[in-house]
Amino acid sequence: MPSPEHKKSVVVIGSGLGGLAAACTMAARGHHVTVLEANEWLGGKAALWEADGFRFDMGPTILTVPRVLERIFAEAGVKMQDRLDLRRLDPQWRCFFEDGAALDLQENPETMAQSLESLCAGDGAGYRDLMQASEQLHEISEKFFFWKSVGGLADTMDLSQTLTPATLKDVWRLRLASTFAREIRKRIRNPQAAQMLDHLTQYVGSNPFQAPAVLLGIAHMQSHDGVWYPMGGTRAVPDALAQLGQELGVCFKTSTRAQQIQVQNGQVQGVVTADAEVIPADIVISNMDSVRTMRELLRNVPTPRFERRWRRRRPACSGVVLYLGLNKSYEHLAHHDFVFSADPEAEFDAIYRQGKPAPDPTCYLAAPSKTDPNVAPPGGEALYVLVHTPYLHKGQNWQDIFPGYRQVILDKLKRCGGMPDIEERIQVEHHLTPFDIGQRYSTLRGAIYGLASHGRLNGAFKPANRSDEVKGLYLAGGAAHPGAGMPMALMSGWVAADCADQDTQMVASK
Ligand SMILES: Cc1cc2nc3c(=O)[nH]c(=O)nc-3n(C[C@H](O)[C@H](O)[C@H](O)COP(=O)(O)OP(=O)(O)OC[C@H]3O[C@@H](n4cnc5c(N)ncnc54)[C@H](O)[C@@H]3O)c2cc1C
Repeated sequence: MPSPEHKKSVVVIGSGLGGLAAACTMAARGHHVTVLEANEWLGGKAALWEADGFRFDMGPTILTVPRVLERIFAEAGVKMQDRLDLRRLDPQWRCFFEDGAALDLQENPETMAQSLESLCAGDGAGYRDLMQASEQLHEISEKFFFWKSVGGLADTMDLSQTLTPATLKDVWRLRLASTFAREIRKRIRNPQAAQMLDHLTQYVGSNPFQAPAVLLGIAHMQSHDGVWYPMGGTRAVPDALAQLGQELGVCFKTSTRAQQIQVQNGQVQGVVTADAEVIPADIVISNMDSVRTMRELLRNVPTPRFERRWRRRRPACSGVVLYLGLNKSYEHLAHHDFVFSADPEAEFDAIYRQGKPAPDPTCYLAAPSKTDPNVAPPGGEALYVLVHTPYLHKGQNWQDIFPGYRQVILDKLKRCGGMPDIEERIQVEHHLTPFDIGQRYSTLRGAIYGLASHGRLNGAFKPANRSDEVKGLYLAGGAAHPGAGMPMALMSGWVAADCADQDTQMVASK
């Protein structure tokens, strides 16, 4: 807890998971925190839609690595388990393929290896080897990448200082010349199993054929730490954090958009809202998309280097989400399901290279009534369907595209998902297009998962949490280090707050 003279005024811009994590951490460490949120609700993409007895999580539905959340609650001396009722799901996903085959992703690596072996001789050993490599990559991430502000390879390991055999071994293990999809296909010959594993990159909205091999660490994290459902929906997570923030004295201002970050002599001074209110601040933590923060909220800082740096970043993919209130649930679905495209390379090529919605898409489904009967009227289902699409490209009008693409999605579910009568079962319906996602959450070109993780060398790196351009400015959320997805966005909020808090102590001790 800082002494009274070290207490700082902190403004957090945005109340997504990263913003809430940052606000709670700063408040727990004794600072005065104000959160400005443009929307009427707190939680950003982890929003809720309810109609006629159906309840939908609108954004994230799969919670992994809950120990990140545990650490944030622990900042305030609170046990996460006292605030959230988390249920572990196994199988983690059920997968359906074009030829009618089905395959479950099971949590236990040995059970999964045996299942893959029964489908294709040699894949059992391949999967064991993959999980071993994944564990090593995860260990490297824990050692060099997580829980601290990192903006590039140089921040992770100081090679000139620590060129030890151990460090060199870690660098070699990063497989810098390889990609996510290549590492999988080196070990798994069954194309359907490979396609299932490709989708571990869904959390970062990137093409597995362009994503760096280091992201394979996700496989170990998901198997070791589990896939969880918070009773009440993933929405229970921002609700619990907002409640914690309130208890810690955080001032939440909803329907308040930050328009400018005031900077003088390279140091943050405060934030100006769209209503021209000036809120003085020693520290600003922006949970707005990092590129948009730097390009839209700062006025006099930009230099040519700054311009180059912040123009280079590409958004991750976007998506179309259908929220379908069904009067009758489907028995064959698990809580999380995928209905896969026939040709993953063609699908990823359409989304990530051609910038077009895939004609034969992969549909991710959440059928939460399998775990939580309160999401739908008795016997019904709050079916959530997410299809990844390109981020918004010039000339794409989703009002025109949506009706046809909705039908493509429903036809896919009818054909390959065992839901031939889905249209007759729909009682209520709502949707989001990439345009809606961009508008609702102020993302970069409608991106769902912040910035793309493409590039063998730099693909895993996002902008660092501590700005080296403006003193007192920190970045949190899916478009900042360590990236998107619930646990990473939460971790990014914690890292941003931890850096800010440590910096105040360094200044104080000088
Ligand atoms: C459809 C969908 C499905 C997903 N599925 C999963 C999943 O299953 N599992 C998973 O782990 N992740 C998933 N994700 C990703 C996950 O939701 C995000 O990575 C995470 O929630 C992002 O949190 P964030 O901290 O970046 O904040 P965001 O949720 O992006 O929130 C940012 C907030 O900042 C506010 N804001 C922006 N600019 C301003 C401003 N100038 N002034 C004031 N407020 C501002 C916005 O209104 C918003 O509330 C999904 C996302 C989507 C959209």
